[in-house]
Amino acid sequence: MKFNIKKKYKKSRLGLLTLKHGKVNTPAFMTVGTYGSARGLSESDLDSCNAEIMLCNAYHLMNKISKLCSSKSISLHDYISWSKPILTDSGGYQVFSLSEHTKVSRSGVTFKSPINGDTIYLTPEKSIETQQMLGSDIMMIFDECPSYPLSKDETQESMELSLYWAELSKKTHFTDQALFGIVQGGMYEDLREQSLRELIKIGFDGYALGGLSVGEPKPIRERIVAGLASKLPDDKPRYLMGVGKPIDIIHAVSEGVDMFDCVIPTRNGRNGQLFTSSGIMNIRNSKYENDLKPIDEACECYTCKNYSRSFLKHLDKCNDSLAGRLMSIHNVYFYQDFMKTIRTAIDNGTLDQMIEKVDLVYSDSQ
Ligand SMILES: [Zn+2]
Repeated sequence: MKFNIKKKYKKSRLGLLTLKHGKVNTPAFMTVGTYGSARGLSESDLDSCNAEIMLCNAYHLMNKISKLCSSKSISLHDYISWSKPILTDSGGYQVFSLSEHTKVSRSGVTFKSPINGDTIYLTPEKSIETQQMLGSDIMMIFDECPSYPLSKDETQESMELSLYWAELSKKTHFTDQALFGIVQGGMYEDLREQSLRELIKIGFDGYALGGLSVGEPKPIRERIVAGLASKLPDDKPRYLMGVGKPIDIIHAVSEGVDMFDCVIPTRNGRNGQLFTSSGIMNIRNSKYENDLKPIDEACECYTCKNYSRSFLKHLDKCNDSLAGRLMSIHNVYFYQDFMKTIRTAIDNGTLDQMIEKVDLVYSDSQ
């Protein structure tokens, strides 16, 4: 993996990530393909939205699919028919947010599968081995994602366990895939800084801020991001996990973050919540019944070029799955276009003006 910073504007960075399966312009937004697909969107749909990288959840692809890929000597790329870069997450977040009866020990986690109730024992080594079998471009270390709120003592204990697991993850890594460390430490700046110092000593290809967007108030998250983002190593990609809304993304970019992911574009798209240049539109509103305009006249996505608000509203009302697909295409395109505009603004030195505009349009849509 190579990471070149082409230009800086204040703390923000315009960069290019070169991975095994292609190049990714940063700041980048990764489309989430939980089960290996972005919920109803094919590779050509994502291509038409200019998506350059997909995030897949190792947790959901563990066992059956990773073993199949390994035994047939095919990569996850071949299996899901996606030729561009893939980042796999380690499963840590899913284990701690989706599973019941989670039992944590120093060596790993035992939990009940939310899919079939099976008891699963997952370790940092097993997570990395799975991600290596899948052959993703970027792997994430396995960490404990503490809940919010949590006392400082408990957060420290969790952060130290994650650091131990970070070492185990690193020791298991033997491929040419990139491996990113994840800074933990909850809402406590000193713990976050300790986590970061120790991760740098272990040495990773990129650094992520994890354990945010777990229910904490927005000002606390903003304080952590603002305090920490620019302290992550300057020459490595910086990734803010699970964030988020356009307004949160652009502010984090201004603090020096390079990579983002979130399910919002597809999840909201399926529910008729559409991002536009003038704010959020809810297609289920009765005022769009006879509206023959596209979702956004300024948008050049496949949906806006071919379909009206009225027809999308009609499809959504009839529960036709085409509605979810078309509206997701629009949102995924919007996010990629938004990131492209951010990159241009960094290049031109006009990011502050763009932030002012985004604040104006999206501050009421939180
Ligand atoms: Zn559109």
